[in-house]
Amino acid sequence: MTATSIDTLTPTGLATNDSSNDKRVLLLKPRGFCAGVVRAIDIVKIALETFGAPIYVRKEIVHNRFVVNELAEKGAIFVDDIDQVPEGMRVIYSAHGVSPAVREHSKERKLKVIDATCPLVTKVHVEAIKFAKQGYSLVLVGHRDHDEIEGTMGEAPDVTQVVSNVEEVQALQVPDPNRVAYLTQTTLSLDEARDIIQALKEKFPNIAGPHSQDICYATENRQTAVKNVAHNADLVLVVGSQNSSNSNRLVEVSKNLGTNGYLIENSTAIDPAWLEGISTVAVTAGASAPEVLVEDVVAYLKERGYGSVEEVEVMPENVRFGLPPEIVQAIQAAPGGTSATV
Ligand code: SF4
Repeated sequence: MTATSIDTLTPTGLATNDSSNDKRVLLLKPRGFCAGVVRAIDIVKIALETFGAPIYVRKEIVHNRFVVNELAEKGAIFVDDIDQVPEGMRVIYSAHGVSPAVREHSKERKLKVIDATCPLVTKVHVEAIKFAKQGYSLVLVGHRDHDEIEGTMGEAPDVTQVVSNVEEVQALQVPDPNRVAYLTQTTLSLDEARDIIQALKEKFPNIAGPHSQDICYATENRQTAVKNVAHNADLVLVVGSQNSSNSNRLVEVSKNLGTNGYLIENSTAIDPAWLEGISTVAVTAGASAPEVLVEDVVAYLKERGYGSVEEVEVMPENVRFGLPPEIVQAIQAAPGGTSATV
């Protein structure tokens, strides 16, 4: 772990290092946008530039209000259901993925589909299809009301059950306890998922699982950063929306380590009472929260005397995903447009 003063990061407007008091901010790294979120937002922006508004987007492209509002201002129309997209129009699937039923419905309505599903969510879908074809009962560890779980479950709805905690594992019933496989949501708490998977292994000793864990690198890295730094802070502020799974998990990780934490949309959500008697505030952001909101929070803290801002890099992160073929082809087919970077 390396601690770096961000005084050199003047473009962010966050930097000063006033050591006249002992109030400080620890800015965790990695934080904020992951590769899947960057890709999904790029897809909407490129689609708007290439095809022009309106472009329909099924569900929030990523779970962040600021991002959604910004794209809506540029001409994206967010809908909950494919039925809300006029026939023949262009629709983008969100980073959380969709079920085959949604794909089928889009076909029936003759929609032009651009798929912004994160490749790491697609990986879980592929695993679900594989296990279902091999005759396994599937246990999907995750949160029932999350868009990602709805999409993954849709790959094999007849053989899939969702569990969210150890108690639900105990209540599971399957036709053949020797033919059970599990998968997980990509944005779970690593600790919670480990306990649930352990309970599954105890209940079904022959249970099969994914080749590599389904919890994604971005979720893991952000949680690891909190685990490394929370003990040095009196308070952890996580920038993210209330419906962002990985952001909520960051708050839980901090609280489980004994450091209080809050999930905040932006600086206006900070209750000044939270800062009473607090010397060190750690700031991080969920995978769908833009850096501009982190800057806003740090500026708020600086105004309230937190003059020292240190960026603490727990591990490097350099993941990038290519654009989907339908976007690349569209760019190449557009007049003068052949320069898509994939
Ligand atoms: S949090 Fe993980 S699974 Fe979700 S979009 Fe980002 S990289 Fe993909």
